Amino acid sequence: MNQPDENAPRLGYVEPLEHESISHYLGRLRRFKANSLPSAYSLGQAAGIGAVTARWEKLYFNPFPTEEELGVIAHLINLDSSRFQAMLPHRGMTLQPRPIRLCGACYSEVPCHRMEWQYKDVVAVCPHHNLRFLERCPSCKRPFQIPALWTDGKCHHCGMRFTSMVKYQERSKKNG
Ligand SMILES: [Zn+2]
Ligand SMILES: [Zn+2]
Repeated sequence: MNQPDENAPRLGYVEPLEHESISHYLGRLRRFKANSLPSAYSLGQAAGIGAVTARWEKLYFNPFPTEEELGVIAHLINLDSSRFQAMLPHRGMTLQPRPIRLCGACYSEVPCHRMEWQYKDVVAVCPHHNLRFLERCPSCKRPFQIPALWTDGKCHHCGMRFTSMVKYQERSKKNG
């Protein structure tokens, strides 16, 4: 029933960034294809699978996306299924969807939110930089928005750049 119509126009292609989380990717895709994807619900509706993509943008994966859901979306956006899967939480890892975390050092390397920042099993320290994740803006103390809404790499409230936040991340004593 949910087989995509081969004649339906595809939504084109947006290249995923390295380590990019599905929330961040779907937000970028949606803004890039604003005419065909006016809201967080549009992609799921276009794919005939309902509102699930809006949940993925919020990092809610319960129930976990099915192969079929991923397949129809991947087809619609011309993305290889395996690359789409790579943006989801890895099997066996427990996701903690809130608070949204940030490593400013990671963000300086690749400007996107990474799913691995949200893993519950990981101590709240970036494994690449040995810096504690930020869980709110160090300047205005507001929680970060969901990654799908990260339009310009700044705090949505006070405008502080994510790349400037690295100096507020404590170095972890472990491995020090
Ligand atoms: Zn990092
Ligand atoms: Zn702020």
